[in-house]
Amino acid sequence: MSGDPSMTTTVAGLSTAAATRLLAEDGPNLLPQASTVPRWRAFAAQFTHFFAVMLWVAAALAFIAGMPQLGVAVTVVVVINGVFSYVQEARAERAASQLRAMLPAQVLVRRDGTAVSIPAAEIVHGDVVLLSAGDRIPGDVDFTGTESCTVDESMLSGESEPVPKRPGDPGFGGTFLVNGNAEAEITATGARTRLAAIATLTATAQPPQSPLNVELRRVVRIISVVALTFGGVFFAVSLLSGTSWRNAFLFAIGVSVALIPEGLLPTVTLSLAMGAQRMARRNALVRHLQAVETLGSTTFICTDKTGTLTQNRMSAVEVWTPQSVVVLSGTGYAPSASITGGPDAVAGARRLAWTARAASRGRAVLHGDEWVAEGDPMEAALDALARRLDHGAGSGAGRSAGKSAGTGAGTSADGDDPGQAAAGAEVAVEVAVDARWPFDPARKRESVAVAGHLLLKGAPEFVLPLCVAPADLAACQAALDEMAGRGLRVLAVAERVLPGTPGPDGPWPEDPGELERELTLLGLVGLHDPPRESVAEALRATRAAGIKVAMLTGDHPTTAAAIAGEIGLLGPDRTVLEGKDLPEDPHLLGALLDRDGVVVSRVSPEQKLKVAQALQLRGHVLAMTGDGVNDGPALQEADIGVAMGASGTDVAREAADLVLLDDDFATIVAAVEQGRATYANIRRFLTYHLTDNVAELTPFVVWALSGGSFPLALGVLQILFLDIGTDLLPALALGTEKADKRAMHRPPERRHLMDTRLMVRVFAVLGPVEAVFEMAAFTLTLWLAGWRPGAEFPGVGVLAAASGAAFTTVVLAQLANAFACRSESVPPWRLGWRTNPLMLKAVAVELLALLGFLFIMPVATMLGQAPPTIAGLLVALLSMPALLAADYWHKRFTHRRAAGPSAG
Ligand code: ADP
Ligand code: MG
Repeated sequence: MSGDPSMTTTVAGLSTAAATRLLAEDGPNLLPQASTVPRWRAFAAQFTHFFAVMLWVAAALAFIAGMPQLGVAVTVVVVINGVFSYVQEARAERAASQLRAMLPAQVLVRRDGTAVSIPAAEIVHGDVVLLSAGDRIPGDVDFTGTESCTVDESMLSGESEPVPKRPGDPGFGGTFLVNGNAEAEITATGARTRLAAIATLTATAQPPQSPLNVELRRVVRIISVVALTFGGVFFAVSLLSGTSWRNAFLFAIGVSVALIPEGLLPTVTLSLAMGAQRMARRNALVRHLQAVETLGSTTFICTDKTGTLTQNRMSAVEVWTPQSVVVLSGTGYAPSASITGGPDAVAGARRLAWTARAASRGRAVLHGDEWVAEGDPMEAALDALARRLDHGAGSGAGRSAGKSAGTGAGTSADGDDPGQAAAGAEVAVEVAVDARWPFDPARKRESVAVAGHLLLKGAPEFVLPLCVAPADLAACQAALDEMAGRGLRVLAVAERVLPGTPGPDGPWPEDPGELERELTLLGLVGLHDPPRESVAEALRATRAAGIKVAMLTGDHPTTAAAIAGEIGLLGPDRTVLEGKDLPEDPHLLGALLDRDGVVVSRVSPEQKLKVAQALQLRGHVLAMTGDGVNDGPALQEADIGVAMGASGTDVAREAADLVLLDDDFATIVAAVEQGRATYANIRRFLTYHLTDNVAELTPFVVWALSGGSFPLALGVLQILFLDIGTDLLPALALGTEKADKRAMHRPPERRHLMDTRLMVRVFAVLGPVEAVFEMAAFTLTLWLAGWRPGAEFPGVGVLAAASGAAFTTVVLAQLANAFACRSESVPPWRLGWRTNPLMLKAVAVELLALLGFLFIMPVATMLGQAPPTIAGLLVALLSMPALLAADYWHKRFTHRRAAGPSAG
């Protein structure tokens, strides 16, 4: 199907049967799995990291000091935590690899003589692949046909300049075509490629740290330092206050263990993985888990127009020629349309269409009974245009048909007859192209040499200056403005008779600039590309979410502005810039662009990169789309590089953090929403974890401040059991909390996970309430048993019941807290009790565990507690409404203050 005979003559490709046999023999075209960490090592790692080692030492010391229960309990904690973490990380890893498998990797290959698109993994030795700019070469190859083909081999050779390729040259799997087109025969696949050899060498390199990883490690480090400092202080205080070193040691361990958030990291990883899975269900594929979090804090989106905001289903609706105008109505790529225009006008339009089509590779093809675009949709639309205009004008092959077509259709020729349409399809005979200089976004035009002519199509500003000034330049300009003003993409088409030109074998100049001059303008063609239906709504959502949007497009300023206006992107000040007018200075550039609804037209990939840098300089968290060969650097520079799964290039996908499987702008917005939800979930269980720590630490503080005269409400073993019995499951449940509907009605927040707001909530509201009731339950039990502060310690039985009351209080208050933590701004009863089913299960397990810890005698004795008295139980029960009330008032207070007038 390739439109270029110079590349199709040599190699016919494999038959499907042969390919199937070879695939069975050689195996799939996959790189050998970059040696992942073996399972046992991943498992062992959960027991050998810093915290685990600390706890092992503590356990060993406990045994040595003659406290076997403590030793056993600490061991149990390490084991349960390790297994729990391992399971979570394994789940997250599995989710991530499922996502990787969804990444599109298709290759155009010639099988049984026709071009078909197949998964890259099914390529075999001997296949003939058809490559164009932006494609990843799927295996080692020998080139058999090339057109201005250059390949980026930097990943293999380190050479950053693209290497030109000619027939007979070798190419390597994993490298990218940056320019032109090529046909190549596969010589090696999978593990036998050059890349495979290198990949195994570099597999050991550590992946770079993501911002979230850094952030989390910061949180964990802060908490650990606090934990160890407290541990040390208590050890010293208790020794000074005359406690035996044995008890002092016990306290020190208790404090440290109470504060260290062992299960935090795996829980975070798992929630990121679940967030990524939810994004994937909405067609947004993240290429690494941390992108989920970054997406949530996006403050600026730079999007391109074609395909992302529009449908990329083009159709030519108007042809302007110096003679007159032809208007077409017809949708899709079928060769039928109704045509309005006089015979001369139609003849001129046909000549233009044939020329434009010759300078294109994209085609309209019949798949089953539907006409679809193969290759560039705009070029397919030009092909369809040629067929539409040909229809009714009889047969005639090649360009000469276009030139001699004097008997064009009359006014309002109706082409809706299917029989006629089929005839139109047959007329489309390919012309023999001697040389081709493919489209590139810098030149913004494409030209070919055909039978002594140079044929060219491209953006008007990049074509008109090359033409001998037409008599009616003003009319041309007016037609251009008028069409662009309606949001049409306008192309100029021109030609030239080449003086004394070489034949098909050349030599042709590398740089077409020598030939692209003194052209004759044939006319302009206006192409319509309807906006996506979802886009207007998605733009409203980004506005509501306080995210700024800019359109960066290679298209004409007037066209871009018209589309931006139509979909509601264009801001109130209607700023429409052109790439060439952008200031060089990044500060100026940033200031210019840092507002909502800016349109930058005729932008080059290099300018995109500068825009990304300038906006980041202003503190933006930037998501930027790109689909072209040269968009890689801009995508990498942006915080979130967004590539297209359906239409984009492999190069762009490789550089991106997020791949839109449906190319739709609305999908970015959905992903941002999911990112915000995930970030919120991580904060939820962080709040929950830390509140527990306050309650666990308080007894030690009280005991230490009293110089050891106030008995210890909770022992080390109880704390360990609280951590496992109460913290693990509800934290997990909080990680599954669904997106808060109002999350997208707030401006984006770039804040540390552990910011002041979270700290205040934990250490000034939730934590203190929990601690006060815990100590109250404990003290009241002792008081009613007759003990007064300062007196001798009460008896063991009284102390056990009091401690049991304190334990019960923390469990019950944490239960209420789990519900309170479901939202940072709304009281739990407004959320619906059954909206998080996992939470109900977690809470049920927690209550059962509590009963077990209190009433199973050996366990209770080991923990040093007994079932609470009625009074103790009452205080414990009261802690729940008290915590919810405190939470409610705090939420009301902060929400009213933070919300301001705009958010409700
Ligand atoms: P966009 O941002 O809309 O995807 P592109 O960079 O693809 O813009 O295209 C920029 C301009 O280059 C278009 O407006 C058009 O005038 C011209 N152009 C695009 N594709 C081709 C092509 N295949 N041949 C010739 N000119 C093209
Ligand atoms: Mg484009």
